[in-house]
Amino acid sequence: MAQLHNLGFPRIGRKRELKFAVESYWAGKISQEQLLDQGKTIRAENWVLQADAGIDLLPVGDFAWYDHVLSTSLLIGAVPKRHQKADGSIDLDTLFRIGRGRAPSGCSCAPSEMTKWFNTNYHYIVPELTHDQQFQLTCTELFEQVTQAQALGHNAKVVLVGPVTYLYLAKCAGEEFDKLSLLEKLLAVYQQVFAKLAQQGIEWVQVDEPILGLELTEDYQEALKTSFRALAGQGVKLLLASYFDSVTAYFDDIAGYPVDGVHFDCVATNVDVAKLDILLSTDQVLSLGVVNGRNIWRTDLEAVFNSIKDIALKRGDNLWLAPSCSLLHTPVDLEQEEKLDDELCSWLAFAKQKGQELSLLKAALESNDSSELVAYSAPIKARLTSTRVNNTAVQQRVTALTAKDGKRNNAFAQRIEKQHAALNLPLLPTTTIGSFPQTQVIRQARRDYKAGELSAGDYQRQMKAEIRYAVEEQEALDLDVLVHGEAERNDMVEYFAELLEGFAFTQFGWVQSYGSRCVKPPVIWGDVSREKAMTVQWTKYAQSLTSKKMKGMLTGPVTILFWSFIRDDLDKPTIANQIALALRDEVVDLQNAGIDIIQIDEPAFREGMPLKCSQWQAYLEWAAYAFRVSASGVKDETQIHTHMCYAEFNGIIAAIADMDADVITIETSRSNMELLEAFENFDYPNDIGPGVYDIHTPNVPDIAWMKTLIHKAARKIPVARLWVNPDCGLKTRGWQETRQALDNMVKATKELREEL
Ligand code: GLN
Ligand code: ZN
Repeated sequence: MAQLHNLGFPRIGRKRELKFAVESYWAGKISQEQLLDQGKTIRAENWVLQADAGIDLLPVGDFAWYDHVLSTSLLIGAVPKRHQKADGSIDLDTLFRIGRGRAPSGCSCAPSEMTKWFNTNYHYIVPELTHDQQFQLTCTELFEQVTQAQALGHNAKVVLVGPVTYLYLAKCAGEEFDKLSLLEKLLAVYQQVFAKLAQQGIEWVQVDEPILGLELTEDYQEALKTSFRALAGQGVKLLLASYFDSVTAYFDDIAGYPVDGVHFDCVATNVDVAKLDILLSTDQVLSLGVVNGRNIWRTDLEAVFNSIKDIALKRGDNLWLAPSCSLLHTPVDLEQEEKLDDELCSWLAFAKQKGQELSLLKAALESNDSSELVAYSAPIKARLTSTRVNNTAVQQRVTALTAKDGKRNNAFAQRIEKQHAALNLPLLPTTTIGSFPQTQVIRQARRDYKAGELSAGDYQRQMKAEIRYAVEEQEALDLDVLVHGEAERNDMVEYFAELLEGFAFTQFGWVQSYGSRCVKPPVIWGDVSREKAMTVQWTKYAQSLTSKKMKGMLTGPVTILFWSFIRDDLDKPTIANQIALALRDEVVDLQNAGIDIIQIDEPAFREGMPLKCSQWQAYLEWAAYAFRVSASGVKDETQIHTHMCYAEFNGIIAAIADMDADVITIETSRSNMELLEAFENFDYPNDIGPGVYDIHTPNVPDIAWMKTLIHKAARKIPVARLWVNPDCGLKTRGWQETRQALDNMVKATKELREEL
């Protein structure tokens, strides 16, 4: 009979207990012992929750204080020099020093970098390895967690980041070298880990090698073979886990690995489970990830049942069923939600419910009776034709979209001339990215308003006062293009999601983003439409306060899409186009209300890139198209800006040019304008505002420094096409440093206008 397992469970706790405990520890409010206790409690609760849901094999090793890649670094003793303690010992504070640059004990120093975990919104801490890196079994936490699970009577399966994925994700500290040259040394430590786990009585170890979902060079393919050969025969059974994308290209390799089982993601792409069944011998475990581990939707169990029932019959115990990947990317428990209506709830499943789904599936397979599954799947089948979900007008509008809708009336060269004439801006126009400091007072007002303690009228008045303040400050600073400051916005996606149709909000739908930071993405459950204007009143008010140009501020379709939980019954390009059309109407309304410059932020544009490079082009095309649909309803004179805050444009410059925004502002100050080279080499045709100062620190940049940066920029991009602005929005900053920094920025620009 099929066995159920989880690849990993959310570690943050039902009510984000881990976040609060860790942050209290950092703030010195609880002791390390209390923190350790809290971790223990969360793990114990998670196991009970999974066991109660019917999971047979429970993951151990999926818990992490900060990040599981960082935990792996500690396990194998890969601690950057600057984070080491004088005596070489490693403790919890070492881990926090690597993750965030400081901890209650030990020195403060730059944290290790973090970056996105494959194509998810989770960020891991990038291991820093030297060419002569030594590994050593150092941290014993994993073994203690095994002991804890065993003492509680659980059937534990240990979960580890595989050695090859670990090396792939690491970066070279100092000079570049071939990271795979470290594999042998690393494998020796993994062997020790496995031997120890065997001693503890662990039967199964799940080795995660998600890099199999990428397009691997031959040396990495070889490294995987070497790795499994080395790890086999250490006294534990090996379950290779792949996820996030299809691994078909490596089927032959996978069939040859000396492993006892393989897990496949059956939801990321269309997989033929019969082929997987043939691939593995019948004495190997075939683990099928049939429940989506990355979303919040109920599974069509009836369909799953039909696709796997023959395999289940044939494989018996050697068929395992699981979510597609770790449930790290899913909120914990739907039962906590009190505000979602029953129909919506009947379409959803969080981590706990996904376990229950597997249990239902197993029972149906055992009894060869799918009637319960039919009943369970009925709501999501009904969703397909629900009039609540389907909005015919929206669907018709999307279907009717043509290439022309994704095109401005004229080319940039013509538009910019008209814009110059209409806007009358000086050389090197100065502007900001949108938000001004979100002060305590602003946040409090929003909380009070939401809690019903502040009337709508009073809230409006207060926000208007904040807007007036921001406008007056900008006039005093003599900036050229002003913004209203985004005082009324809690978050750049949530704000719009709340005003658009087709979105829902959870109370406890948190998922870990990085370290102690969690996000609560809105849920796109239906066709998206805009009932009424969302930003026009605020922007018009702001414009009424000044004779300078007020820049309207919107979040783009691609960013709204990727920072939400998206429906699983519609393809991404279609959802993006729905959002784009809603935004297009907003852009036109802003223009008609007298707003001549409109910025459509797309910080998540790069995030949506598929894992396989062969699919990038298709993605970039639909993403750029959706952006253009949102931007192209306006006349030539209306200037469209976009903003992206990151420093990695390799491979996407053509797509950025394809977005055809009149002006793009980007983050460049920390790269010393080097990143502009990509734009220079491409002959990027439109206007660019390379950020001239880093907004992540309160340090005030000096005039000379910013002048140097702008000079550098002017050597790469014709000065007539340059704008001057900070790297990103200023919402996390205080007013005093903001005022000083912008004052210096404007002074630097004015001096340069004289000199250039
Ligand atoms: N307009 C937004 C702001 O200034 C942009 C934020 C972002 O790029 N992440 O806050
Ligand atoms: Zn930004």
